[in-house]
Amino acid sequence: MTAFKSGIVDAMNTIHARAALTDAGWLESATICIGDDGLITSVARGQAAPGDRQVDLLVPGMPNAHCHAFQRDIAGLTEAAGGSGADNFWTWRERMFQAVQGLDARALQRTALELYRGLRDRGYTSVAEFHYVHRLGGSSAEETAEALVQAAGAAGLRLLLLPVLYRRGGLDGSSLLARQAAFGLSLEQYGRLLEKLRAVAGRHPHLSLGIAPHSLRAVSADDLTEALNLRHAILPGCPVHIHISEQQDEVEAARLHLGTTPIAWLCDNAPVDRSWVLVHATHASDQELLMAREREAVICICTTTEANLGDGSFEIERWWQMGGSLAIGSDSNVCLDPSEELRWLEYQARLRRQRRALLLEAGSMHPGTSLWRRAVAGGRQAMGWESPGIGAGAPAELLAVTVSDSSLSPDDAMDDLVFAQRATRLEQLAGGLGAGWASDPRSAD
Ligand SMILES: [Zn+2]
Repeated sequence: MTAFKSGIVDAMNTIHARAALTDAGWLESATICIGDDGLITSVARGQAAPGDRQVDLLVPGMPNAHCHAFQRDIAGLTEAAGGSGADNFWTWRERMFQAVQGLDARALQRTALELYRGLRDRGYTSVAEFHYVHRLGGSSAEETAEALVQAAGAAGLRLLLLPVLYRRGGLDGSSLLARQAAFGLSLEQYGRLLEKLRAVAGRHPHLSLGIAPHSLRAVSADDLTEALNLRHAILPGCPVHIHISEQQDEVEAARLHLGTTPIAWLCDNAPVDRSWVLVHATHASDQELLMAREREAVICICTTTEANLGDGSFEIERWWQMGGSLAIGSDSNVCLDPSEELRWLEYQARLRRQRRALLLEAGSMHPGTSLWRRAVAGGRQAMGWESPGIGAGAPAELLAVTVSDSSLSPDDAMDDLVFAQRATRLEQLAGGLGAGWASDPRSAD
């Protein structure tokens, strides 16, 4: 397990909660002790002691398993119709390419810092940054990556940085377009970048690394093999994230060029296991979901972005019933609120099935609690930091939930937090992660 050092532990070592959401369920009158390494050392029932930080409900912070920070710059600015009557993901993508033109590493850091603070304010405590805008303005791939590391540290978010391998224009083997030039790295450049970032990670306690072949569109079978060889040599066992089956066009192109559908091809041709994260999987067939479930891969669903881009609707209820690992991601950052992502998972299922309360854990009657727990567990898996939500050995990524209506049970409060936010609000823990990391000086690099 990665050793964590967080600002929370500098400010307070013990928290007392009216109830804490542990893996075994709600623990009432819970005392949580945190060690100097930023990990929870004990969770037990007991009375508050003098000096304890007292909160109402304590829940695990939400991992954000898929994010492109720079896209926050165009959130809300791509809604106007293009005039052709054919606006879709691909026309949005052209606008995204244009937005890259005006950026450099400093601008990226400013955007990312504001975004990451917003994510943290709304309940995300870690972020997986799927970073493919390697060369911006006059900035190098190393500088843009470092900009994201600095922004996450200053915002108090734990960061899984995923440098992206982006090698070609499509499954037909076409070259990158001129406006995709900032994304492209040779395999040699990619390997050097991973080595440099490995050294950077040794100096930043909030940073860990994974790899990200962008998609089957953007990497060939040989590229994927080479990327996995680099992973084995430089970052053995690290998380592997890949966009997959997001677009119907991509599925059709895979049938044409690979002879099968994307997730089926990936599971047959790559060592997919529980360290892999399949981002979107929107158009996965039942058979592909079974394959992903057998491999114990995480599916990361980015509902608000998928809706915004008109991608399609992932049938969450099928994956949920299989017991599949799921994570959520803010992706294009049109929405920064984890509750909204979770709410729309359940709402999509309701709209399809014409029923309510569909996404429930065994023995639970509350979708709010069920969704929060499943997305934390899958999100932690996606980050490569598998651990209980709140339990001994887990990182102290914690949120306080203040409930203004005393008639609500903790489960009622989680339903309110996810679906209405009438009587609940998230409270930042004073002296939180940001305070510890913001003082981490850039000169230390
Ligand atoms: Zn994405």
